[in-house]
Amino acid sequence: MQLRIPGPTPCPPQALQAMGKQMISHRGKEFGNILNSITEKLKQVFQTKGDVLTLTCAGTGGLEAAIVNTLSPGDKILAVSCGVFGDRFADIAKQYGANVKCLNFEWGKPADPEAIGKALRAESDIKAVLVTHNETSTGVTNDIGKISSVVKEFDKLLLVDAVSSLGCIDLPTDEWHCDAVITCSQKGWMSPPGLSMISVSEKGWQAHATAKMPRYYWDFSKARDYLQRGQTPWTPAISICYALNANLDLMLSEGLPNIFARHARVAQLTRKGVRSLGLSLFPPDSHASNTVTAVRASDKLDVSKLIQVLRDKYDVVIAGGQKKLSGKIFRIGHLGLVEENDIKTVLEALAKALPSAYRHSESFAPCHSEEAKRPKNLAQGKLREESRD
Ligand SMILES: *Cc1c(COP(=O)(O)O)cnc(C)c1O
Repeated sequence: MQLRIPGPTPCPPQALQAMGKQMISHRGKEFGNILNSITEKLKQVFQTKGDVLTLTCAGTGGLEAAIVNTLSPGDKILAVSCGVFGDRFADIAKQYGANVKCLNFEWGKPADPEAIGKALRAESDIKAVLVTHNETSTGVTNDIGKISSVVKEFDKLLLVDAVSSLGCIDLPTDEWHCDAVITCSQKGWMSPPGLSMISVSEKGWQAHATAKMPRYYWDFSKARDYLQRGQTPWTPAISICYALNANLDLMLSEGLPNIFARHARVAQLTRKGVRSLGLSLFPPDSHASNTVTAVRASDKLDVSKLIQVLRDKYDVVIAGGQKKLSGKIFRIGHLGLVEENDIKTVLEALAKALPSAYRHSESFAPCHSEEAKRPKNLAQGKLREESRD
């Protein structure tokens, strides 16, 4: 099967094998060695000398943890959004009582660093900026380098949702002065869902020292204290730690520049292939993501039918659009364990599946279509065959 959604992503055999290991005590030396090893290797991929905490939760838990550990109710923050995940980050902050100023960009377009600068100039008491590195819902990668230089000009705290980009697209945490960078195990890390990994800068820790949002499970102080002893405050997802540890070895032996280049190559192949089928991309080329390709679907294309045929007939699993993009786009995930050959398989299947996913409108002259020429019972028989596969 080709699992080509933007998470969960396929796991390499090394991870699957590692996960078959017996349980161990999470308070013992063996787990301590694993956690310390994971942490050291994560720092290399995050490109940080600061702290990296590993929490047992989904990516959204990591976003929530970053907010409640650095902010207080009533803090004014600027939430930059260009899609579902930017909106979610803002919603979490609202839920915990932050005074959220939303800076929304059209879905499919990137966040504009200049507009962020303008917003920060207009409201001097903003404490933090929330931004999504890779907006998975629209296939857009924001320019965090430029955004961070604007945010740092105003000396604000910068919290970055890099859930679907870190470990795939370059994000030098320290160099770009990101105060918290959040990711999770089932995206570029090729592991099952269950862990969220978060970096915390010096400035992040300073904010944490005075942050008053309620928290218990998420408390970074507890996580840091326990980490010094090679432990986590609560029982961690031990099996996922096994997998992540194995995958980090694979990632570091491939090397970060090679990983970034592979994702760029695979993404380019995806974009080129999709275009050659007469389809167009949802985001502009300049900001098209190297981890997920969002493809525009015309009114004539039935996205749910396309997804169903790809899955049932060709064993290829892709994603549709979320929220208001439902039916308007489809998305091909290419992050983590992915090579050019995987994308070739997806593109071949897409080419074969597309004709059956077009709606027969008046302009399509159904009397000329293959489906209409066939006797009705035969067409139905074909359909049944498809769903049986
Ligand atoms: C997947 C994703 C999330 C949420 O991850 P969950 O593990 O489903 O909570 C958040 N942000 C981005 C950008 C994502 O791609």
